[in-house]
Amino acid sequence: MFILILGAPGSGKGTQGRILAERLGLPKITTGDILRAAMKAGTPLGMQAKKFYDAGKLVPDSVVLGMIKDELARPEAKDGAVLDGFPRTAAQAELVDKTLAERMQRLNHILLLDVTEEELVKRLRARAATEGRSDDTPEAVAERLRVYQMDTAPLIAHYTTRGIVHRVPGIGTVDQIAEEIKRIIGR
Ligand code: ADP
Repeated sequence: MFILILGAPGSGKGTQGRILAERLGLPKITTGDILRAAMKAGTPLGMQAKKFYDAGKLVPDSVVLGMIKDELARPEAKDGAVLDGFPRTAAQAELVDKTLAERMQRLNHILLLDVTEEELVKRLRARAATEGRSDDTPEAVAERLRVYQMDTAPLIAHYTTRGIVHRVPGIGTVDQIAEEIKRIIGR
């Protein structure tokens, strides 16, 4: 089973994705983590990504499509995965749809974590103070929220036509939201 966790920056994708992946025994593929590790290690991917990442912009599809392809091809993801942070653009969605279709698979569920902008900004500010991510500066946060609305939110319409989008209210405790996801997926 392939499950995509979709939501604005700060909506809790990482936290809920981790809980869900553990419960279902599926690997979680997190493009943000892969890019952060690549930047830290100074690999060619990381070096290409850094200036976009730090500015809160999407790393161009020309850079990330190959990475996404490789991740989906990993043996651990043969039967399913929880996708966190991608697809995030129309081109990425096309690649994921096509790759899975070739394997007679598909995205089964899309969980849309719905959180108000006010709450997102509050959470990202709190996280900036503790984690020190280079894209948690006020300017980069504003850009990430803008990019989400412009490039990623349109994917909701694309997948809604297939009837696989579930809206999850992102407000409540971590446990309450995890329970709601369990109820929606039915396991
Ligand atoms: P958030 O959703 O809070 O912004 P992520 O860790 O998912 O956190 O993403 C952080 C940054 O990593 C993005 O702003 C972007 O620069 C880069 N990134 C992550 N995933 C992708 C992707 N699929 N395509 C392009 N850039 C990405």
